[in-house]
Amino acid sequence: MTGVQTCALPILGKKDKIKTVVEAAIGKGIPIRIGVNSGSLEKDLKKKYKSSIPEAMVESAMRHIRILEDMDFYDIKISLKGSNVMETIEAYKIIAEKVDYPLHIGITEAGTLFTGTIKSSLGLGILLYEGIGDTLRVSLSSDPVNEIRVGFEILKGLNLRQRGVNIISCPTCSRQEIDVIQLAGDLEKRLLHITEPLSIAVMGCVVNGPGEAKNADIGITGGKGITTLYKRGKKIKKIKEDKVLEILVDEVESMIK
Ligand code: SF4
Repeated sequence: MTGVQTCALPILGKKDKIKTVVEAAIGKGIPIRIGVNSGSLEKDLKKKYKSSIPEAMVESAMRHIRILEDMDFYDIKISLKGSNVMETIEAYKIIAEKVDYPLHIGITEAGTLFTGTIKSSLGLGILLYEGIGDTLRVSLSSDPVNEIRVGFEILKGLNLRQRGVNIISCPTCSRQEIDVIQLAGDLEKRLLHITEPLSIAVMGCVVNGPGEAKNADIGITGGKGITTLYKRGKKIKKIKEDKVLEILVDEVESMIK
């Protein structure tokens, strides 16, 4: 959904300017997104709600909703973004009870790739699990390509989208007989171009390995310098550890063909 975002404070009170925006949106047939940010709330709302940021965010959004509705404009989308995960969740939960407009969800200015991914996964994951949110934005101090990847991983983790490879792999473990961390990382990078949903298990030993490998579309289990390849539940062949990356990439590419 594309949209024109209205900022909270600067245009409040300048209804003639909002009317111009509304007329332009109607002319182009596009919605307007009311984007409230906890960092730029109106002064009176900050004073009224003091430490209760979620309520202040919601009231700010409701003010702008009423302005647009008074102009008979209802093609509205709302975002209530904050960098505090719990406050943002609370704000979206409150507004979801009040209005039926679509909600664009996100944890804004969430931080670096590592911390921002965790905050976004928590915030968006909880909201989406509760059925709140129609579109989303992951906001990271990182290459925007990573924002898209993290967004898809959140949706994949919640079974809301199926896209690209899903790698199942072991953590560090004393039983590992191959370098799972290196192999799983290399495999993920080599398969970034794959958009078809496919599960790949990279397992370090035969304790839990065969079960996971059989459940995946493609899987390998580690042995001493040798791995075993599984495809769609069937044991296929043994592969030397130094050849396993290239063979797995080839297998994935031929499977999606
Ligand atoms: S499959 Fe083997 S290596 Fe992997 S976590 Fe389980 S016991 Fe450890």
